[in-house]
Formats: sequence, C-alpha cells, structure tokens
Amino acid sequence: MSGAKSVAPENRTVIGLTFGNSNSSIAYTVDDKAEVIANEDGDRQIPTILSYVDGDEYYGQQAKAFLIRNPNNTVAYFRDFLGKDFEHIDPTHNHASAHPKDVDGAVSFTIKDKAEEDAEPSTVSVSEVATRYLRRLVGSASDYLGKKVTSAVITVPTNFSDKQKAALLAAANAADLEVLQLISEPVAAALAYDARPEAQVEDKIVVVAELGGTRSDVAVIASRQGMYTVLATAHDYEFNGVALDKILMDHFAKEFLKRNPSAKDPRENARGLAKLKFEAEATKRALSIGANASFSVESLSDGIDFASTINRLRYETLSRTVFEGINRLVESVIKKAGLDVLDVDEVILSGGTAHTPRIASNFSNIFPQTTRILAPSTNPYAINPSELGARGAALQASLIQDYEADDIDQSTHAAVTTVAHISNAIGVISLNAAGEEIFVPVVPAETAVPAKRTVHVAAPKDGGDVLVKFVEGNTHIKVTKPEPKPKEDKTAKVEDAADSDEESDFSDDEEEEEEKREKVWKIGNTLAEAAIRNVKKGGKVEVTVQVNADLSVILTTREVGAQGGVRGQLNA
Ligand code: ATP
Repeated sequence: MSGAKSVAPENRTVIGLTFGNSNSSIAYTVDDKAEVIANEDGDRQIPTILSYVDGDEYYGQQAKAFLIRNPNNTVAYFRDFLGKDFEHIDPTHNHASAHPKDVDGAVSFTIKDKAEEDAEPSTVSVSEVATRYLRRLVGSASDYLGKKVTSAVITVPTNFSDKQKAALLAAANAADLEVLQLISEPVAAALAYDARPEAQVEDKIVVVAELGGTRSDVAVIASRQGMYTVLATAHDYEFNGVALDKILMDHFAKEFLKRNPSAKDPRENARGLAKLKFEAEATKRALSIGANASFSVESLSDGIDFASTINRLRYETLSRTVFEGINRLVESVIKKAGLDVLDVDEVILSGGTAHTPRIASNFSNIFPQTTRILAPSTNPYAINPSELGARGAALQASLIQDYEADDIDQSTHAAVTTVAHISNAIGVISLNAAGEEIFVPVVPAETAVPAKRTVHVAAPKDGGDVLVKFVEGNTHIKVTKPEPKPKEDKTAKVEDAADSDEESDFSDDEEEEEEKREKVWKIGNTLAEAAIRNVKKGGKVEVTVQVNADLSVILTTREVGAQGGVRGQLNA
C-alpha cells in the first residue's frame, strides 16, 4: 500500500464499509460490538447510486427514486467496473440509468452534474463516481458519529483482482479516506458471527453464500481457531436479486395487460419499466416477511393505475429457476473444495437476497440436520444478512486501528488470505469399545499452519505398555443403501394399498427410504509410532501435534500426570 493515504493511529476514527453494486453499508464498533449505522435518510442499506438534478448531488435512496424521473443523470451498478477496461465490463444492469462509455478504454459516464442550464454534460470516470459516492458515505458516517471519519476497512468479493483493489484504494484515498485493509466479503461475514460473545471459536467448515442484487458469490472457508482459509469460491451473475425483481415485473405486467387489453405494455417504455422495477423490489422484500404482498403503481401505462397482490407460494413457484440456480452454485463450490455437504458445519447467508425464506429452507434440504443454517427464517439467532459484511469490516477495523499502516499490511494479510495449510488431518489410532481401530483427529485438515493441538486419548482399560501410532486421516462418505425388500412382502403391500389410502401412503414412504450417507474416517499413512511403558490402569495418554510453518511436524506423547514422554520430529 505504499504511497497510499495513511493516518497516524492516534488520529484515526475508523468504520467498516461494504460497497456493493446495489447497496452499501456503514458500521461502527462500540465496546467490541459492531453496529450498522443509518445515514441521514435513516437507511442502513444505502443504494449505491448517485443522481444529479440542477447541479445538486443526491445519493442513496433519494438517488434511487430518481431512476424513474431522471435516469440519464443517475449512475447505478458501477462498483464492479472499478479497475476494469471498458471491453471487459458487463453493462447489462445499466440499461435503465446512465450508460457506461468507453473513454480511451476507461469506463466513464456522461451526466449533467452542473447547475447552469446551458452547461455541457460532464464525462466522469468510474473512479471519480466511486470517489464521489464514498465521500458521501464517509460524510454520513462522520455526521452520525459527530467526528470526522478518517479510515475504513472495506469488504470486496473474493474474485476482485489486484487491479480492481488498487482502483478502489485510489478512489477511497481521493475521497480522503484511509483504507486500513480490504477484506473478503465471506471472511467479514464469518467474523461478524464469530465475534459474538456467545460464539464458540471452534474448528469448523463454513459455507458463506453472499446473495446480492447483481451477483451471487459462494465461498467455502475453513475456520481454525479464528484463522480463516478460503478453500474454494464460485461466482454467478445470473441467479440474483435483480432476476427475482424481473420475475415479478413480468408477472404483474402480464396481469396488467390482461386487465387492460388495449393498453401499451409498460415494459416497452422506460418510465413504465422503472416504476415496475421499483415496486417489484418492494413487493419482493415484503414477501420475505409476509405470506402475501401487494403491488401498486400509479399511472403504470397510458395513465392507468394498477393494483394487485401475490402470495408467497406463487412467487416461489415463479422463481424456482433462480432458487435452483443458487442451490447448484452452493453444491458446486463444495465439490470444488473437495468436500461433501456432510463436512459443512455452518452455512452463513449474507446479502439482501439472503432474506428470502425459500432460499434458506432449500439449503436446509441440501445439508444434513447437523449443519447450522444461519438465516433469519431458519435460525432465531441469525444476524441480519444485510448487515454481516459491514459488521465484520467494523470489527476488523477496530482490531487493527492501533497499528501503523505499514504494519497492518504485513501482520494481518495472512489471517484473511490463503495461507499454507495441511491437506490431511493428523491424528492417532485408538480402539473403540468394540476393540476396532479408529482414527482420532488431533489437527483437522485445512488447518492453517503453524498450528499446535493436544488431545487426551484413553489408554487400554488395563493399562500397561501403549503403542501410539500417529497417522494421517481422510474423511470419506459411506453410503448405506436400504435393504431391498423381499418380493412377496411388496406384493402384499400393493394389495393392502388398494384397500386403504392410509396404508398406501405408508408403503410409499417405505419404498422411498433414502440411502444413508455418513462421514467416516479413513486411516492414511503412518507418520510415526511411539511406545509408552507402564501406563496405569484407566490412564490417559496425552498426544500433541505441532505443524510448523515449513510443514515439518513435531509429535509428542506422554501419560497424563506422569513424567517424561516421547518426542519426534518429521521433516516436511
Ligand atoms: P450486488 O453487489 O450483488 O449487486 P449488494 O451487495 O450491493 O449486491 P445487497 O444489499 O447485498 O447488495 O443485495 C441487494 C439485493 O437484495 C437487491 O436485489 C434487493 O432487492 C435484495 N433484498 C434486500 N432486502 C431484501 C429482502 N428483505 N428480501 C428479499 N430480497 C431483498
């Protein structure tokens, strides 16, 4: 970050920011608790939009309202264009607002941002748009806090390129904002959950589904004692919040035309389309809370007002393709990480679209019951998905605000980017009650190194000499097919079914009995063996595995409560 704006730690006031294509949020930490703060309009989700009317600049919700009356001087959906050449951007979402233009390869917008009637329109680069927008966000934060905000941690998608990050840093610096750190969106969401006082910091595999307006990003993260390693990511630009708006827009436009056969299609006129979109989004949000929602637009087309309602079931049926697309995205990224749904301990739903109850309930069907699905509709303790990113960013900001800018760069990068990690678990072999050899993990797979873990393993009941075998372990999924039913039995059931409806349901259930899938450990390579003599009756053996940064391993074992022990080192 050399050359970037830096502020002395004692002079900083820090915030956490999310800066999305659709919305942005500001959070601030008080007494180790992060809170999302409202801007002067009272909004916590602030539309990432700027609009110019008679030389006045509007931002957020006020700018969004101008998409209907002043679309050409309103700039929306621009964050992803930062640091990109014109030929590599996707302008799909800009059709109803200022269009991006190619100015010597740089993405720019032509807007009338001056007061004078006869002033020439200005051509403003996307970097300048971002700077103006961030200045407004920081201004709102400073007003709220009553002091000038100097610095921020900002979240970015996991596939933001170095060039995009550099462009974002430059845009923030030009808005007089020091960027303490850019952290990835899924890690910010995981941090927001793990920082709760009641959270148990445990080793776990977390899937973060970041579902926004223009994109859906999913990441698989290994969380190992507060260190996060991103194992795999997937990105989609088709199954998103805007697609859900479009489904409702088409639904109501068709209903309008059915009721008014001679009226013009509201989708064929820019203002009609903008009105449809505005109201469709509001209806969609209402359907996340209630079983029914209304839709009403004044003068939708040919001066005709329109009002209707829709229930959630109908909406969910219409939106099936989008929901299924999101399911597939989640399944694909777990596969990409080389894992199975049974390996996932927690699914965090983040982003505005994550409020949709059906998306969360679909996830409950994909994952086993033991996986925590953290969404408002499935878990009463879930954090508002729209606030996770900003909260995580604010927590990170408060953790690092006392460091000099140069130190932050070096000391915190590893914690939130990919660091060396072990791919197999390391553990020991023990015997279960039935006397079978089982694997007891000491350091789980995907643990970032260096790492040191200790476990206690029961020695054989009668004590004596114990051989501790250090091995690598892998999980695999054991599938047990239900026993095929004897033939005559089946015939009997079919006959019974003909007699009684109830029984027919019952027999159907039985036939559809699902195969059983469970995660089991497979014992891999033996790393070392150590003998401990004369362990007392009912004694325990302590086993410690330390994996160094160069992936060399130190193994130690001793009887709990006894002197001495055995130690060995393996080179990487
Ligand atoms: P992106 O960068 O993908 O465009 P973002 O991160 O800027 O998205 P978010 O606020 O996370 O923006 O998501 C915006 C989307 O969430 C919009 O499509 C919005 O309609 C939708 N949304 C917001 N609240 C709800 C809700 N309660 N129910 C359903 N959808 C919602």
